[in-house]
Amino acid sequence: MSAFYERKVQPTPSTADLWFEKIKYIPEEALKPIEKRIQGECEHWPYNITSTMASYYSQWLDSHPEKRAHDNFFQCSDCSEGLIFAKKVIEGKKYSYVFRCTKCRQNHNQNYPAMSRLELMENYEVAK
Ligand SMILES: [Zn+2]
Repeated sequence: MSAFYERKVQPTPSTADLWFEKIKYIPEEALKPIEKRIQGECEHWPYNITSTMASYYSQWLDSHPEKRAHDNFFQCSDCSEGLIFAKKVIEGKKYSYVFRCTKCRQNHNQNYPAMSRLELMENYEVAK
């Protein structure tokens, strides 16, 4: 990106590393639009490139709220974003249930009972 501004002095590798350390949490899909905005709106190389990127990133998140929600969940081998989806056949009819994973406890929706995947597998058909 620095080539776009034809900077006389290119960032040294260690500076680039520092930048990378500061912005590596920004997902790939957000980097392109952020880069575009910087090139479109900033006449000069931003004084503080990482804070500019961070503020554009939070604006990008505002316009993509579903990404923000997703980012807050971490990977759990037992569930999907804190929820376990299970099915049970009762008298020939299939019913769907949603439970909160007790292994990671990352979902706090009180509408769903909390249960571990292992317990559920005894009585339900558990989807992955
Ligand atoms: Zn879990």
